[in-house]
Amino acid sequence: MSFDDWLGAGRFRYPPPMDHLWTPWRYAYVTDADRQSECIFCQAPKESDEKARIVHRAKHCYIILNTFPYTNGHVMVVPYSHLDELQKLPADATQEMMVLTQRMETVLRALYRPDGINLGMNIGKAAGAGVAGHIHMHVLPRWVADANFISVIGETRVMPEALEVTWERIRKELEKIL
Ligand SMILES: [Zn+2]
Repeated sequence: MSFDDWLGAGRFRYPPPMDHLWTPWRYAYVTDADRQSECIFCQAPKESDEKARIVHRAKHCYIILNTFPYTNGHVMVVPYSHLDELQKLPADATQEMMVLTQRMETVLRALYRPDGINLGMNIGKAAGAGVAGHIHMHVLPRWVADANFISVIGETRVMPEALEVTWERIRKELEKIL
């Protein structure tokens, strides 16, 4: 799936599309290199910041908005390397990932005044990873009343912020501290 398809069609699909189901011999021949070329987190840095909704590029990792945010300000810190386990990430990249996560905490506190922050990694499909082959750290602001984002929208009329607006706000705030 191309980056455009992913952006346009919605979510990264799992299980694989039906044509893979009916042609398992073909699927079996898909190499690791092929899978990597379809990986959304490998594709995103090849696009412009605006198109991919990247808010910052560091040496080992970049920060990107979640296209399907759980809350306003939901971002992911992603290493450029296509790695499926945190234990495979070199120490310098791991350190940078954590520092960028700290910086995002600062930015989200300043912009959204949350009551709390969720940080997390879902490693592997069984753990709930949307893109299982490429590790990424979720960072998102939380509020006392937002146990369910939809209920927040429904009950308190908090409108979800447009991604373009979020992109601009977070970029500007990050520039102040990075
Ligand atoms: Zn990847």
